Amino acid sequence: MFGFGKKKTDATTMLENGTWRCGICEAEHGWPFDLACGAPDVWPHEKVHEQNSALRWDGDFLSEDFCVLDGQHFMVRTVLMIPVIGLKDQFGFGCWSSLSRANFEKYIDGFDSGQYADLGPWDGWLMNRFKYFQDEPDPIAVDVQPKLGRLRPELSPMDDAHPLAVAQRDGISPEQMLEIFAHYGHAPETKAN
Ligand SMILES: [Zn+2]
Repeated sequence: MFGFGKKKTDATTMLENGTWRCGICEAEHGWPFDLACGAPDVWPHEKVHEQNSALRWDGDFLSEDFCVLDGQHFMVRTVLMIPVIGLKDQFGFGCWSSLSRANFEKYIDGFDSGQYADLGPWDGWLMNRFKYFQDEPDPIAVDVQPKLGRLRPELSPMDDAHPLAVAQRDGISPEQMLEIFAHYGHAPETKAN
């Protein structure tokens, strides 16, 4: 230590160094590490993805980006970004949002080109409960911001005071980031001291 600047926390160092061995799934994880939900929580079947191009508008359909339930509920794979204080990369919660049928159609129309006639934001509900920030069982209302250039739409909670909105605005600490990974079963291996 040279005595200037703030001493970095262990969590910051661990994330900056890039990889850690998971104490639970035993894989090697790297930072930035996004948690990804394979389907909306309401999806009643196995999470098997069909091709996007096979999209069906009736019955149930799931691909990596689109989900239709009962031919009347429309959901898309999105991401909710959360800054981590002191780190360049943000954390991405890969989750699903509902859309109205009209906005779902707009999304499908622009999906291949990555260009949308309507730049949003669109109204949606977060369809994966982010338990670390969300005590309530009900979905939270979100703005769905379509992104140009084939990036996934980004979510932000409509209620500025919701803990998830606060986290997105103010960022979370590296220690909280590690707690979230632990919560979802990807905690770093603990060293026996
Ligand atoms: Zn893991």
